[in-house]
Amino acid sequence: DADLSTVDPEVASAVAAELDRQRNTLEMIASENFAPLGVLEAQGSVLTNKYAEGYPGRRYYGGCEHVDVIETLAIERAKSLFGAAHANVQPHSGAQANAAAMVSLLQPGDTILGLDLAHGGHLTHGMRLNFSGKLYNVVAYHVDKESGRVDMAEVERLALEHKPKLIIAGWSAYPRQLDFAEFRRIADAAEAKLMVDMAHFAGLVAAGLHPNPVPYADVVTTTTHKTLGGPRGGIVLCNDDKLAKKINSAVFPGQQGGPLEHVIAGKAVALKIAASEEFRQRQQRVLDGAKILAARLSHPDCVAAGVRVLTGGTDVHLVLVDLVGSTLDGKQAEDRLHEVGITVNRNAVPFDPRPPMVTSGLRIGTPALATRGFGDDDFTEVADIIAGALRPEFDETVRGELASRVELLAAKHPMYAGLG
Ligand code: PLP
Repeated sequence: DADLSTVDPEVASAVAAELDRQRNTLEMIASENFAPLGVLEAQGSVLTNKYAEGYPGRRYYGGCEHVDVIETLAIERAKSLFGAAHANVQPHSGAQANAAAMVSLLQPGDTILGLDLAHGGHLTHGMRLNFSGKLYNVVAYHVDKESGRVDMAEVERLALEHKPKLIIAGWSAYPRQLDFAEFRRIADAAEAKLMVDMAHFAGLVAAGLHPNPVPYADVVTTTTHKTLGGPRGGIVLCNDDKLAKKINSAVFPGQQGGPLEHVIAGKAVALKIAASEEFRQRQQRVLDGAKILAARLSHPDCVAAGVRVLTGGTDVHLVLVDLVGSTLDGKQAEDRLHEVGITVNRNAVPFDPRPPMVTSGLRIGTPALATRGFGDDDFTEVADIIAGALRPEFDETVRGELASRVELLAAKHPMYAGLG
């Protein structure tokens, strides 16, 4: 019964170092969050020992009476939070959730229509090297070059021309809401099914701060670890009984074997928290923080430095920064922020002239800091630090000043008091 530091000091010390990193730097990767202690506890529990192939009440293994309680709680909470008739909480990840949803709606060789990866879509929406790009015939829609917003006229034109079996609405890097009613109308006109991948904005939907796609889509997929703030994993939602059966079968036995009941317990806990008023207020801080960041990065001193906010702002939890006119590329900007203690990811911007490993953009998100307790004043300070790091005046002295301001903010919002 030796604990981690005894049985494996090397792993223990890397885990401790990661905890320090999370505490002492500012996490602004838009797809990340801090899972609460209750979720960590569920994930680190004895549930990891249990095989439970099948679904609650219909397992292929004995001894499932307690994991049935847990998985049923997760299912019922997911259904109630998002207003769906059916929920499958077993996908190990967002990619697995998408694979299951697509397998249940498509045959290999069918045509799908999704947002181009280079314009903010996800790998699973038809990228060439992904299963979605290999199994299906992919047609991609884009954002409009001027407005930066999804070109719904192009979506309609491509849908009517190519008659896809499935249209995918959803994104990994896009700062605006999608018009689900319009996607539904186009899908109906093209006799296509509609899948919404709300992986990024599910927390905002849960809080009632973003339109809910469930009434519009045939199937809705999500991750549970981004704005939703739970364990790493996926969920598939739908309203149709027949489709729900196909999705269940596509997850198990189609894609997966034994479900990760410790992760499903973490999902149940996160979904309970996501129904609370405190969670709603947190998501409001997420949105307010992103707006503060967009406004600061649109200030004349940033514009003069060639920094541009894509679409001119945001109505979600992230800001996309366009550095095409800056002397910095995405990699250099990411490194600069890293040097002052802020973690973001470089991101291709639509029509990016630079290669994908370099890029001309940054994706900056507010969910993790909001979970940490950041409010408007803190986000104003973070936004000013980021603006300072992206300006040409940046030198050793500025670096030191900005790093000290980051340290102060991190100290003001301590986290995971109960750990290590
Ligand atoms: N869908 C979208 C829109 C995403 O942004 C992501 C993750 O980045 C995924 C699916 C895949 O999630 P996972 O990394 O859990 O496979």
